[in-house]
Amino acid sequence: MGTGMRTEERFIKCGVFGQIKENGMIQKPILLQAKGISKSYPLAGKVKQGRIYAINDLSLRIKEGECRGIVGESGCGKSTLLRILSGLEEPDGGEVLYQNMSVFAQMKTRRNEIQMVFQNSMNAVNSYLSAEAILGEPLKNFGGRKWEGKKERREKAALYLTRVGLSEKDLDKYPSQFSGGQLQRICIARALAAEPRVLLLDEPLSSLDVSVQAQIIRLLEKLGKENQLTQVLVSHDLEAVYYLSDSLTVMYGGWVVEEIEEIKLFDQLCHPYTKRLVQASKGNWLRLNEQSKMVYPVRDEDNRNTDEFETFTEEKFCPYVSLCPQRTEICRIEIPPLAELCDGHWVRCFFPVLPEQCAKIRNHPLRIEKKK
Ligand code: ADP
Ligand code: MG
Repeated sequence: MGTGMRTEERFIKCGVFGQIKENGMIQKPILLQAKGISKSYPLAGKVKQGRIYAINDLSLRIKEGECRGIVGESGCGKSTLLRILSGLEEPDGGEVLYQNMSVFAQMKTRRNEIQMVFQNSMNAVNSYLSAEAILGEPLKNFGGRKWEGKKERREKAALYLTRVGLSEKDLDKYPSQFSGGQLQRICIARALAAEPRVLLLDEPLSSLDVSVQAQIIRLLEKLGKENQLTQVLVSHDLEAVYYLSDSLTVMYGGWVVEEIEEIKLFDQLCHPYTKRLVQASKGNWLRLNEQSKMVYPVRDEDNRNTDEFETFTEEKFCPYVSLCPQRTEICRIEIPPLAELCDGHWVRCFFPVLPEQCAKIRNHPLRIEKKK
């Protein structure tokens, strides 16, 4: 790590999360948290030796009932993060706590409480099973003795299908008989059938066309409210995440580069990478004001294939340095710490594109330091 504190310490320092009385209000309790997790994989192939650093010192606190959006482009570590949060995979360092206890220690006893909707719904279901059998699995595994009978299970499966906008008639159909959007609904219904408290959604909108995306977004919104679910929504689509989420984490090259605790601060997003995402958005879902659409310089390198991250070594420089129009020498030799810009807003950048309001509230500490 470069300068500054480790990411977990920022929560201790400012204490804005957790069941803390603030302005007389009791904050919602934290349901799921990652404490300084990291994960790397050995590089496959003989050309490049070393490891891919998929997740680097990542800390998150997800409050009960909130929808946390996680955005970042392909390969930045989003799916890895979800697998670790769900307890399917163990991090190399750090830990994940669910209700203040290790998520792994609770895998057997409370397996149903954290459910994942996997990326690419076609691969996430067994194509030889009918919708009834797909939904029957969680009902059998997690329902205790409640759904023991075949008839009861079928009725319950039908109920979950209707909750995601399908019908009883679809029970006997096989995955190949469903459209992409319908299959995504089946995957969501399967997760709901386990009666989870936390739903982790990995790119639920990718590979769907725009009108179907809109239907799934509305479905997720409805289900979240009806079931008082805590959701973690991973997407490369900033607009969808903005529409659905209460809080936002932006990732780049395995690092959290920006985080806002309340989406109402959206116009204040200021990491150069996030700015680029905002500019690239089509305006389907965003309700941005004019100020946030500020013109942002584009460089030649912007045409580069950004799938190829320099995550092959333990980085000692800003993960976004090669594409960043704001970069200076310091960005090539140090990793900026995740610094608190204003309450509930963190950014990992030495030279963030400061929104006016933020600058008024507090000068960016690193900026002052670097100008000396
Ligand atoms: P995203 O979901 O944001 O596209 P992933 O979490 O799938 O990103 O991957 C992050 C990085 O980790 C990528 O470079 C990917 O190739 C690598 N990676 C993920 N899972 C594995 C694995 N099981 N083995 C080797 N490398 C992996
Ligand atoms: Mg992924």
